[in-house]
Amino acid sequence: MAQHFDYICLGAGSGGIASANRAAMRGAKVLLIEAKALGGTCVNVGCVPKKVMWYGAQVAEAMHLYAKDYGFDVSVNKFDWSKLVESREAYIERIHGAYDRGLDSNGVTLVRGYGQFVDNNTIEVNGEHYSADHILIATGGTPTIPNIPGAEYGIDSDGFFALNEQPKRVAVVGAGYIAVELAGVLHALGSETHLFVRKHAPLRSFDPMLSEALMESMATDGPSLHTHSIPESVTKNADGSLTLKLENGESYEIDTLIWAIGRRPSTDKIGLENTDVKLNDKGYVVVDAQQNTTAKGIYCVGDIIEGGIELTPVAVKAGRLLSEHLFNGMTDAKMDYSLVPTVVFSHPAIGTMGLTEPEAIAQYGEENVKVYNSGFTSMYTAVTAHRQACKMKLVCAGKEEKVVGIHGIGYGMDEILQGFGVAIKMGATKADFDAVVAIHPTGAEEFVTMR
Ligand code: FAD
Ligand code: NAD
Repeated sequence: MAQHFDYICLGAGSGGIASANRAAMRGAKVLLIEAKALGGTCVNVGCVPKKVMWYGAQVAEAMHLYAKDYGFDVSVNKFDWSKLVESREAYIERIHGAYDRGLDSNGVTLVRGYGQFVDNNTIEVNGEHYSADHILIATGGTPTIPNIPGAEYGIDSDGFFALNEQPKRVAVVGAGYIAVELAGVLHALGSETHLFVRKHAPLRSFDPMLSEALMESMATDGPSLHTHSIPESVTKNADGSLTLKLENGESYEIDTLIWAIGRRPSTDKIGLENTDVKLNDKGYVVVDAQQNTTAKGIYCVGDIIEGGIELTPVAVKAGRLLSEHLFNGMTDAKMDYSLVPTVVFSHPAIGTMGLTEPEAIAQYGEENVKVYNSGFTSMYTAVTAHRQACKMKLVCAGKEEKVVGIHGIGYGMDEILQGFGVAIKMGATKADFDAVVAIHPTGAEEFVTMR
């Protein structure tokens, strides 16, 4: 006989934990099922360890690029990669503990094991059956590797976080967030790093100003960028090194190869064939605006929804709103997937929200779009021999110049964007931006003083 709950969340990552806690806070009897570590991708092999490595890279840059001109005579005896990994993993262990205590205090039952649907209302874990009136699928995704000879010699982002030693020569393949972030960290920490992208630039879906400025920064100080580079095969050499051969005939010898070519949804082994849940042809779950799947009483949030945005705060917000809807009478609650701010932890950081300039022109017509640009040397580096550029752009639409896009690359951009996100979400115009007194001297002030 199945043990019955009000709500089951399958997957204790960003979406599942947030939804389970909120449902329990609203009085529901909740079961949370997790096959691996609490916190899912973000905490264990995503945002958190990535950001710690990025902070490590900041420390390296401060010492190697900037310290001297600030008057410090720094000599670095050694960089111990395994110490950084140890500090990072200890931090993640503390997060696991905090999650455990949070679930406990909210009264969420946690079962560890791999869950599979038996029918629309029942999930089996470790041979036990659990049923519920409402079930959330929040199983997230996993990295993909290409289908070329020798691809198995490479690792993925999960493998990057499992590295206990610093690779000497690294190839990173991909042009998205993960490729850019990992290549930047490896370069800053001292690995000889090559970034291979298939077309003319990394981050091609971002505003062109951002990808161009990123490439300029890489050209002066960054990983070696190889554009129009499509991997053909990988071979393992007698000394353990790898040779990456490209379709254009070039080949590179490296010690570690990292595939960062996208992720796929973990929906193929969870028994969905026993339910009425519909998947699209790529395995993403079809949902409506309130996260309902095609099966009554089964919902889905996070990285695996069709047309979703693969970011932790998106999964968290959608999961919480779903619980408010199901267990707190907020029948209209639904996630707003428009105007989501995001940061790429590149070198320097990129912050972006809303329409790119080409998207705004396509949507409003060129005559109705006004773009404001600003470019300067980040003050942090203005007194040092190593200069770092900061570039910013506001994309405005209509007579009232409503700000429909904000884009920046430069020192501190990772922290600058959030507050501007509030203004843009509220419908701020360029005049509203200008009405605010600047905070001086900061990089952020450029956004309210553009001419
Ligand atoms: P996940 O967090 O992936 O959680 C799914 C959970 O379900 C996992 O714990 C998994 O083990 C479990 N599971 C799967 N199947 C089963 C099953 N059958 N039974 C039991 N448990 C199961 N986002 C940001 O916002 N900022 C960042 O800086 C950022 N950096 C990233 C860096 C990297 C390298 C990666 C890979 C991702 C990054 N992301 C970032 C994206 C972010 O991690 C995801 O958007 C987020 O984790 C998605 O949450 P989720 O709940 O959908 O799934
Ligand atoms: P992505 O979809 O952003 O990028 C994948 C890239 O790989 C694309 O540029 C694509 O052109 C390229 N590619 C695909 N197939 C290829 C092939 N065979 N050979 C070479 N290149 C190929 O995916 P990602 O970088 O894996 O990131 C997944 C998602 O995770 C992101 O879209 C983002 O939403 C999220 N994420 C967010 C952050 C952040 O918020 N800072 C960081 C990392 C990841």
